[in-house]
Amino acid sequence: MDIHETLQRVFGYPRFLGQQEAVIEHTVAGGDSLVLMPTGGGKSLCYQIPAIVRDGVGVVVSPLIALMRDQVEGLRQAGVRAACLNSTLSYREVLEVEAAAERGSLDLLYVAPERLLGERTLELLARTRLALFAIDEAHCVSQWGHDFRPEYLQLSALRDRFPDVPRIALTATADEPTRREIVRRLGLGRARRFVSGFDRPNIRYSVVPRNRARAQLMRFLETRHRGHAGIVYCLSRRKVDDTAEWLRGEGVNALPYHAGLPGTTRQRHQDRFQREEGVVMVATIAFGMGIDKPDVRFVAHLDLPKSIEAYYQETGRAGRDGQPADAWMVYGLQEVVTLRHMVENSDAGEARKRVELRKLDAMLGYCELATCRRRTLLAYFGEEAPESCGNCDNCLAPVTTWDATEAARKAMSCVSRTGQRFGAAYLIDVLRGRDTERIRRFGHDRLPTYGVGADLGPREWHSVFRQLVARGLLSVDVDGYGSIRLTGESGPVLRGDVEVLMRRDVRPVAAKPRRPRGEQESPPDPATWDEGLWEALRKRRTELASAQAVPPYVIFHDSTLREMVARRPRTPDDFSQLAGVGDTKLRRYGTDFLAVIAAHEKASAQG
Ligand code: ADP
Ligand code: ZN
Repeated sequence: MDIHETLQRVFGYPRFLGQQEAVIEHTVAGGDSLVLMPTGGGKSLCYQIPAIVRDGVGVVVSPLIALMRDQVEGLRQAGVRAACLNSTLSYREVLEVEAAAERGSLDLLYVAPERLLGERTLELLARTRLALFAIDEAHCVSQWGHDFRPEYLQLSALRDRFPDVPRIALTATADEPTRREIVRRLGLGRARRFVSGFDRPNIRYSVVPRNRARAQLMRFLETRHRGHAGIVYCLSRRKVDDTAEWLRGEGVNALPYHAGLPGTTRQRHQDRFQREEGVVMVATIAFGMGIDKPDVRFVAHLDLPKSIEAYYQETGRAGRDGQPADAWMVYGLQEVVTLRHMVENSDAGEARKRVELRKLDAMLGYCELATCRRRTLLAYFGEEAPESCGNCDNCLAPVTTWDATEAARKAMSCVSRTGQRFGAAYLIDVLRGRDTERIRRFGHDRLPTYGVGADLGPREWHSVFRQLVARGLLSVDVDGYGSIRLTGESGPVLRGDVEVLMRRDVRPVAAKPRRPRGEQESPPDPATWDEGLWEALRKRRTELASAQAVPPYVIFHDSTLREMVARRPRTPDDFSQLAGVGDTKLRRYGTDFLAVIAAHEKASAQG
């Protein structure tokens, strides 16, 4: 089979995406390559198809043991001869896999890196005919990256041991220093580079100013993601536990995940997230790399990530299947205080702290944007984008700015006159002229700034303080009380020498979500959409999946089921035309799903 036939007959797709074809041709011809593609870009096929087409076994190095099983299962469902070698196998299973490799009756073999470099495996590989080496998550070789794995450093040995076997390193991590390190450490100096754009057009980015985070999250879930699978990120374990429990109380199928839970609990929760439909994982960043569930419909941040790289990686876990997904975040002054505090009190050296504070500032800048968020994200990774993407909050409902010069002066003057010792809540009370015991005790009701800010509400004042801090015009003391202080930049604003424009936080309430240009899914066509059929197909899929103890999506993705609803195939031939239906799946599941469709049609005709 050539590569196009493999794409259609094994994977059921009519055409390649992006650079897939170029990478695959290069690899089939025996060349080395470095592939940089965003999450969801279709990296897997870049090595799977060459492994199938070329003679011998394709060896895939992947750090994600927990996911190997599902990856292998997905391939077997499509009729590909795949297996894995990792510490979860029994000795007998290991022997079977090894024998299969040697016999040449495997297309793909997934191996954990520490295992690959053991003598036993190296000897096995020396006896086996090899199609290629694929090094997945190749950024794990980078010591400065966030996912460094020491075992990856030894992968450079592959070139020396197997100089004639093509190698393909893949990652979704974008920045240039990491790329250079991958090339150097893996000896890929002569490899061809395939770099794809990092845009994720199906992800809608939004940031909302915090007022009552839980209520805001609930509304987001109810209006946009009822019953959908998603991830809610929090900074602390405690908050993860509390949030998961609260969500469960609200009827959401939520589970906690953080490094403080026993390994078995973590594994169980991860399994349920992968296998059940509509599970919401509430997690710290410990839940991360290699979540390769394609139908994560949203990633919500209840706390600010530490950097734009981290944010982009975390939000990138949404919508790998290319269907519309949300990256949603609440953000307020408190986070800035907490994160600054964490950085400043860490054990890192001064230089490292400065870098981290700069990254945090870039993240704050992103939150306070009044212009297209996607454009800013892509610019951060060195990519140009149009002025407006049509699929972020600022493009969908343009924010207005207002002249906050006066308000900023009042706020700063209040900070200064109260001695730079108070937090935002107190300062706002003084500005708004509230009559409290505390204010009277400090004599602040006699200050000239007392009551000068009665024209703005507390929320607006919060927004003013937050934006001033985000821009470094005020700072928050990390003394645990969140005292607000002037900075070296405050002077010109205080004197009225510069104009301060701020974004207006308040958006029209409950604006009907418009369908933006960027969304790839056309709304279900009311003429063909049938909720009953959709549910019946999903039910059948769940039954088939549970019978084999595999995640539902390895049988068919949602997008394939959706096509069934829209096109109502009647014959196996019609069925094979659906995207995601290859020869094996047609044979295995065609009759089942065609029967569901036929029964449904008949019932509707009678009813
Ligand atoms: P990555 O590893 O780059 O994050 P995957 O390899 O998991 O991405 O692919 C992402 C999704 O795109 C998967 O659901 C996959 O089935 C789908 N996909 C990959 N290649 C194609 C293609 N040529 N046509 C249609 N869908 C594809
Ligand atoms: Zn935009």
